[in-house]
This record gives sequence, C-alpha cells and structure tokens, in this order.
Amino acid sequence: MSSRRDFLQKLTGSAIAFQFAPYLTYADNKKALQQYDGPVLRVAIMGLGSYANRVAEAMRDCKKAKLVGVISGTPSKIKDWQSRFNIPEKNCYNYDNFDNIKNNPDIDAVYVITPNALHRNQVIRVAKAGKHAICEKPMAINAMEGQDMIDACKKANVQLLVGYRMHFEPKTLEIIRMRKEGELGKVLFFQGWCGFTIGDPNQWRLNRQLSGGGSMMDIGIYAINGARYMIGEDPIWVTAIETKNNKEKFKEGVDETIQFQFGFPGGAVASCLSTYSMNNLDRFFVNGEKGYAELQPSTGYGPIQGRTFKGELTHPHVTHQTVQMEEMAAILLEGKKPLLPVDGEEGLKDMKIIDAIFLAVKTGGKVALKW
Ligand code: NAD
Repeated sequence: MSSRRDFLQKLTGSAIAFQFAPYLTYADNKKALQQYDGPVLRVAIMGLGSYANRVAEAMRDCKKAKLVGVISGTPSKIKDWQSRFNIPEKNCYNYDNFDNIKNNPDIDAVYVITPNALHRNQVIRVAKAGKHAICEKPMAINAMEGQDMIDACKKANVQLLVGYRMHFEPKTLEIIRMRKEGELGKVLFFQGWCGFTIGDPNQWRLNRQLSGGGSMMDIGIYAINGARYMIGEDPIWVTAIETKNNKEKFKEGVDETIQFQFGFPGGAVASCLSTYSMNNLDRFFVNGEKGYAELQPSTGYGPIQGRTFKGELTHPHVTHQTVQMEEMAAILLEGKKPLLPVDGEEGLKDMKIIDAIFLAVKTGGKVALKW
C-alpha cells in the first residue's frame, strides 16, 4: 500500500481531477476528497467483463481505492483497459501467470469478477500470492468451496471480502437502523422478490459448469442476504419449490424459478422468489409489530427507492460500487468494521443457505440449518 501523496505523484493531472460521489460516511464528500492524504488500496481486477467495467468506472470516483492492474485472458481487453485506466504494463497479467503478482509490490488486492465456478481456485491463487482477495457474489458455487477460500486466505494471512454492494447502500442501511433501534418493533416477516428475464441461452450464467446453478446463484442470493440483514438473524430452516417451464433453456442443475421460505430463531419468517423468467421483480418488504419498510427497486444499481410507515426514504443515490470500494479500502487498510459484514464468513452463510435451498428442492422437505 502507498500513501495518497506518493500515489498522486504518479498520476496525471486529468486522472487527479476525478469527480465526487455522494458518500454515506462523509457529510462533505468534496472536502473530504480534497483533504484525503491517507493510504490508497491498489487493486487489480480479474476478469474484464460487464460487471468489471462497471466497477472500474465507479472506482474513478474513489479516493481510498485505485485500479492499478488487470488480469485477463484476452490481450485486446488488456490493451483497452491500459489506455482507459492508465495501467502500466508491469501490472498486467493473464490467467497463466498471475501467480507472479506475489512479486509485485504495487498491487495490494485482487478483485475477482469472473464466472462463479472459477472464484474458488482464483481466490486461492490470489491468497497464495499474498494479496487480499475481493470476490464477487456468489463467493463460490457451494459452501465447501467457500470454506476452502476462507481457509486459504487465513493461511496466507490475507483478507477475503465479498462484493455485497447493498451492504453500503444508504436506504438499506436506514431500514436496518430503524429495525435495530426498535422503530419497526419486533420484525416478524420479510418478503424478497428477485428476478429478471434472462436472454442469450448460451451465456455462462445458464451453463452449470460455470455458474453452479441458475437464478438462485445470480439473483436469488440478494433475497437470501436481504432476509438476513433485514431480519437481523440467520435462518434455522428452509423450504423451497422449483418451477421449470423451459427445460430447453434451463437444463439440469440450472434453476429457472424457486420459491423459498425461511424460519428464524426469533419467530420471524421470510417468503422469497428467485427467477430468470420474470421482469419487474426487485422488491423487499419487511414488517414489524410497529411498522413496515419497503424497497422497490431494492437491489438494482439504483436509484434504490423506498418508503416506511413514516414516509418516503430520501437519502441521496450513491454509485454502489464507488462506495463499496471506498469502504472495502477502509476495511483492508484501516481495519474499519462495516455495519454489515462483507467478509468470507458472510459469503459462506449465503452459500450454506443456497446448499440448503437446493436440498429442499430435491427432497421436497424442510431442511434445518445449524450455525
Ligand atoms: P461477464 O460474462 O460479463 O464477465 C465475465 C468475465 O470473465 C469475462 O470477461 C470473461 O472473459 C471472463 N472469463 C474468464 N474465464 C472465463 C471462462 N472460463 N468462461 C467465461 N468467462 C470467463 O459476467 P459478469 O456479469 O461480469 O459477472 C461476473 C461475476 O460478477 C459473477 O460472479 C457475477 O455473479 C458477478 N456480478 C455481480 C454483480 C453485482 O451487482 N455485485 C453484478 C453482475 C455480476
């Protein structure tokens, strides 16, 4: 890691003139940005696809995190990213040689943004290279893999974070504050709908070898994670039913639509839907004894919109990935504790629940979860 001052000396004037994003933690983002002189997390992104592009563009507005390297199997993409983000040749790697990143003192962390089934081995290699790993959700394709990743990062004495961008979203955090401070009363019900109609049948998301599943791995995980942070507990049982209308597109092991239910230790229940065959499903609803809160859209890139029994939520829209990377830099560099965890253990909980959902679909029964 380098100081901000060292870092700025290496930047061109135009790169310094990055714009400001509204930021939850800082009342005056502009002032904070101008005054910031602390350490900067230097990040290499692995997998230069659609979401990686979004993250990289959002990172232009970060002050604590900076994109400095890339790992890709496509030389033309590397060239493109080098010119767009001013990335030096010495920080460019491919999937064969990225273990050499261990000899590169100018990279602190690698953000893995590749198909789900590749995360495990890639994160383990990043850990062995002595770099912190940030991994996209789902962290892996099952809990056993997630545990392997946690173990490898612990062994290498590096941190593992999972790209849960909603954990830093202001309206989401406001509802959690209300729940924690008792404004909603005892929360007894959560409803989460997550879905969209997926296009191209040949994409990796519909290839079990690369995705590990279907809509559940990709989008249903938001309802799982949301149920946990909105209720503030981890479920102790799961039931689930799968509906498959298009067996050609959604082959064996690739779920199209799953309805699933959770029971929580405090008596709350959750009812959720994950689908790749319906649009307009991006809604969270949480009901307590004193009042309700809802978000719709609840997990899209924003603006997130929400209201509670007290009225509209008016927190400003933030670029999720900018705030996420600022906060992750603070976690990795300053030991900051986020309000909602984004570590490997958090990712692993969702993987254990996904394993339980798939088991419930298979058996048709109620699956108990032990923590
Ligand atoms: P994408 O298809 O756009 O990009 C995937 C990248 O991985 C491509 O650049 C591709 O070339 C590369 N890749 C490397 N090895 C590959 C292989 N063997 N097969 C196929 N591609 C390979 O996908 P994406 O939408 O960027 O998703 C990547 C990851 O990011 C997934 O885990 C996904 O769940 C996650 N994601 C998270 C969010 C979020 O909001 N947090 C949003 C979208 C995607």
